[in-house]
Amino acid sequence: MLRQVGTVAAKRWSGPPTTIETGFDMTLTDDRLAQPDDTTGTAAVELTATSTVPLLLTALPGPKGQAVIDADQRVTSPSLTRVYPLVVERACGCVIEDVDGNRFLDFNAGIAVVAAGHAHPEVNAAVHAQVDQTLHYCSSDFYLPAHAAVCTRLARLAPMADARVFLSNSGTEAVEAALKLSRHYTRRPNVIAFFGAFHGRSLGSLSLTASKARQRAGFGIPAPGSFHAPYWDPYDADALTGADYIRRVLFTKMTDPGDVAAIFVEPIQGEGGYIVPPAEWLQALRELCDEHGIVLVMDEVQTGVGRTGTMWACEQSGVVPDIMTIGKGLASGLPLAGIITRGELMNWEPGGHGSTFGGNPVACAAADVTLRLVEDGLAANATAVGDHLRQRLTALAGEQPLIGQVRGRGLMIGIDLPDHDTAEALERACFERGLLILTCGERSVRMMPPLVVTKEQADIAVDIVADALASLNGDRS
Ligand code: PLP
Repeated sequence: MLRQVGTVAAKRWSGPPTTIETGFDMTLTDDRLAQPDDTTGTAAVELTATSTVPLLLTALPGPKGQAVIDADQRVTSPSLTRVYPLVVERACGCVIEDVDGNRFLDFNAGIAVVAAGHAHPEVNAAVHAQVDQTLHYCSSDFYLPAHAAVCTRLARLAPMADARVFLSNSGTEAVEAALKLSRHYTRRPNVIAFFGAFHGRSLGSLSLTASKARQRAGFGIPAPGSFHAPYWDPYDADALTGADYIRRVLFTKMTDPGDVAAIFVEPIQGEGGYIVPPAEWLQALRELCDEHGIVLVMDEVQTGVGRTGTMWACEQSGVVPDIMTIGKGLASGLPLAGIITRGELMNWEPGGHGSTFGGNPVACAAADVTLRLVEDGLAANATAVGDHLRQRLTALAGEQPLIGQVRGRGLMIGIDLPDHDTAEALERACFERGLLILTCGERSVRMMPPLVVTKEQADIAVDIVADALASLNGDRS
């Protein structure tokens, strides 16, 4: 049975042509592409970080895209949630080109992954150099210079003193490592996470994930001893949440604090709706953990690596976690994740944990350059462009009744809409206009572009969102 993706007529974006300064030169050439350029009518064979976007040439998906979708859907897992029919061919900076030559402005970054932008020349050069040296030699069993270098950099950048690093491949593996280590360190069985949290989909991390019931459906009982508390409520500051709820409800009715190994928290809730708690809310969790000898795990898989304007989001709350999980943007698109901990806490014995592919040298080489670029300016760009984007979206909210709250830090921005259907309709209407965004939470859409995004690109995105919302308003009236 084929899942229906559907074809839509692309809405040609008629905003002003833009000249975009990205601060570095990125060009991909490909003579397979000979599409008429939208402004000059000449053959365009280059894709650069400054290519005009959006540029929509066909219905979506185009014929080549449809062929890929048909082939894919015959054989791939039906659990994959393809949100719209985007078939990516190549990408540069914040520009995505599909297999039919349509160009999109990428405010997804491969779900908050491509920190340095697509095809960043310094990341690609480091990857190519490492590919020519060694693809793999198992960092768990042997020593590799790229692994030692990136772990040294991560330990220096870590919020905690005397840090130690363990590298894995994906965020869910990082969360599994944090689960194992906190139990091993405390010799306690129970863990606490938050409603709305997303920590991954393997069985241990799924026991902490409480984002959508469908992510748990049919998979049996979660790990025994997993409890949940309400996260900060952006619409009700007086609601019983966080440390207060854990003290008053969980510690009196559900678990003795002496049985709790760890509290897992996202410093900004990601899949749950881009919810930003106040610093004091996170500080209260730190105090609770200190009081009861509980390990505080900050899941920075989505918020880390400069996305919120500082290297790690926890820095902005003044809270130092005991364990931090990292992933997504770390290697700008190659699979790399891990945990960073206080040195004394990482006390598992040789053989206690490991991974065949974790800390792969090619991913480590990409990560070392990505982290340097984030330190050298991309985090600051996330603050500058993120503030601009939020200001423009907040102004739009004043004119556009469909927008509720606009939230976020840096380039992690969520927009609330009246309901989930409207959020999905906006996601779709933006795609049809050449802007890639995604829904999150109960009724939000999120913007999480690569950290190289420019103010001009942010302006294009807001203009498209405004146009798309106006069309939804039109549909409603
Ligand atoms: N933790 C957080 C906060 C995430 O946002 C995600 C993924 O979205 C994960 C963990 C799981 O990461 P992965 O999909 O790489 O397993």
